[in-house]
Amino acid sequence: MFLKIPEESALIQEIDIHKNVKLFMKREDLIHPQISGNKYWKLFFTVNNYLEYKPENPLIITFGGAYSNHISAVSAVGHSAGIPTLGIIRGEELEKKWKDNPTLASAKRNGMNLKFITREEYRHKEKLTVFLQQEFPDALIIPEGGTNKSAVMGIKMMLNTHTKDFDYLCTAVGTGGTIAGISEFCEENQKVIGFKVVEDASLEQKISELTSKRNFYLTDADLGGYGKINDDNIRFINDFKTNFEIPLDPVYTGKMMQKVFEMIDADYFSAGSKILCFHTGGLQGVEGANLLLEKQNRDLII
Ligand SMILES: *Cc1c(COP(=O)(O)O)cnc(C)c1O
Repeated sequence: MFLKIPEESALIQEIDIHKNVKLFMKREDLIHPQISGNKYWKLFFTVNNYLEYKPENPLIITFGGAYSNHISAVSAVGHSAGIPTLGIIRGEELEKKWKDNPTLASAKRNGMNLKFITREEYRHKEKLTVFLQQEFPDALIIPEGGTNKSAVMGIKMMLNTHTKDFDYLCTAVGTGGTIAGISEFCEENQKVIGFKVVEDASLEQKISELTSKRNFYLTDADLGGYGKINDDNIRFINDFKTNFEIPLDPVYTGKMMQKVFEMIDADYFSAGSKILCFHTGGLQGVEGANLLLEKQNRDLII
């Protein structure tokens, strides 16, 4: 097995908020230094199965935006497995600017080839996928964000005996693979809440195709739009780190936790509830976010 099951499952840390509910975070961000958080588990079976069958001309191809945690994770997989990777990146303008983008620069250092395409071409990436698979028959092509049936199976690994006593399981939602796995494999009495950081009207439908259960509820947490960094959220992230010594990212986990705090203050959860939030990683994106904030003369993420 190339991606291994860590000897110890991710730490569950209490967030001491002095309210009438108990709040915890499960630190999937700590399980691997480069292949962080939910991306590790989403890639777990896909990558292990592919490498097990020892393709003659191995190549992993995937898709993502300029700050993609998934691109970062796949490049790290390629680097440590010693196999070539190709990242298809949204935005042709990045062709000349990738050196200034820490996510893309580090993917390059990991040996990933980057191909930049227009937003219009990116929207039709399914066509490109068919073409690429013909061109590279041995290649493993992983969809954007890594979401597929095996990714959902991999998320099962985030659940164990320690996660069973919680009433609520919370996760940030991008493409929906993570919440689908939590929904499918959690206990019958547990409620799953997804914090949507991206506006996508078809998300509920997509998730329903990946889980057989209807135990999940989605709430908006985009705080101004996907990937948009919100000053109020930066303050929240910085206070959170100061108070609880847990770093959050500005695209997923920071937005989720701000919304969770708002929901606790609005008494959404009944008194005595035990809430577990998954820290799905994404911290590699902080450096790029800070470069952008610095240019705009705004407060930085500490
Ligand atoms: C990708 C990602 C998510 C969203 O996962 P999906 O399975 O795409 O919904 C959440 N948090 C972080 C940090 C991520 O990188």
